[in-house]
Amino acid sequence: MILDSILDGVGGTPIVRLSRLFRDSRCEVMAKMELCNPGGSVKDRPARYIVERGLADGSIPSDAHIVESSSGNLAIALAMVCRLRGLRFTAVVDPKISPTNLEIIRCYGGNIELVTEKDRQGGYLETRIERVKQLLRERPGTVWINQYANERNWQSHYHGEGEEILRDLDRPVDYLVLGVSTSGTLHGIARRLRESWPGLKVVAVDAAGSVLFGAPPCPRELPGIGASRVPELLRREEVGEVIHIDDYESAVACRELVDREGIFAGGSSGSVIAAIQRLCARLSDAARILTILPDRGERYLDTVYNDEWLSRMRDRHLARNPERSLDLTVGQAA
Ligand code: PMP
Repeated sequence: MILDSILDGVGGTPIVRLSRLFRDSRCEVMAKMELCNPGGSVKDRPARYIVERGLADGSIPSDAHIVESSSGNLAIALAMVCRLRGLRFTAVVDPKISPTNLEIIRCYGGNIELVTEKDRQGGYLETRIERVKQLLRERPGTVWINQYANERNWQSHYHGEGEEILRDLDRPVDYLVLGVSTSGTLHGIARRLRESWPGLKVVAVDAAGSVLFGAPPCPRELPGIGASRVPELLRREEVGEVIHIDDYESAVACRELVDREGIFAGGSSGSVIAAIQRLCARLSDAARILTILPDRGERYLDTVYNDEWLSRMRDRHLARNPERSLDLTVGQAA
């Protein structure tokens, strides 16, 4: 197959049975490899869909300047899509951005707008949104993607992974287990699958310390899942259950994933694997479980795959969960 452009390589990702990692479980666990997308993550899907639909219906003029508050996968994906579509792109980021992501956005030709002032909560979220609004006022022709409220975000996953899963699987799964930040991936896939599989149980995986499902905020380090504000897109009533996973648990599961399956994935992939391990341990009947692995491991060499970082996260984990210290010691020895 010869593609017209790299954007035609977005989607069509394979599903892998994780039979080595879950060998001792009665559950069948399958993972759709969104990390195979050309920009390196699941965010290629909304970036491409939102820009192409916007160009087609005129809501994004062909000479637009795209702006988004993102320092991670969406910014990288938008930088790639804008390059191909001849649009300018500016990522509004804060000092917490990883040096690797900053360089990747620059390599794709994206502009960086760095905010340095903290907001009233002590974070940068409000300052970043203020800067986006300032750019919209100052530069005519600027269009804000606004991933937390943009309906095309979840629609990209509905028509993308949702359609592909129904095409590739011959029978329903019992559980869909997905990491959540904007909730676009979860809602898009769940809404499409439920049309064909009404009995599907939807499990959201959130970062410990994220406020998405009403828990109190606390420090967390891994980007990808979780949020410090509740997205306009999130409909909690469509989620059957929420599992919170902390940075340490995510990293341990990432290392198991590469060790047992040879899949080198990012932090939120570890989060969903850790959540599925917890779910399987609790289920009395055999179940079929589907997840997605959102991005690759290279962007996490300084965190998930760094031993010094892992040991800091382990100390934090033990301090917050003193009752679990025994389990972890046993688990690590095994
Ligand atoms: N995992 C990773 C690595 C991500 O970058 C994102 C998007 N921030 C997610 C999971 C969650 O996706 P969504 O925003 O669609 O909820």
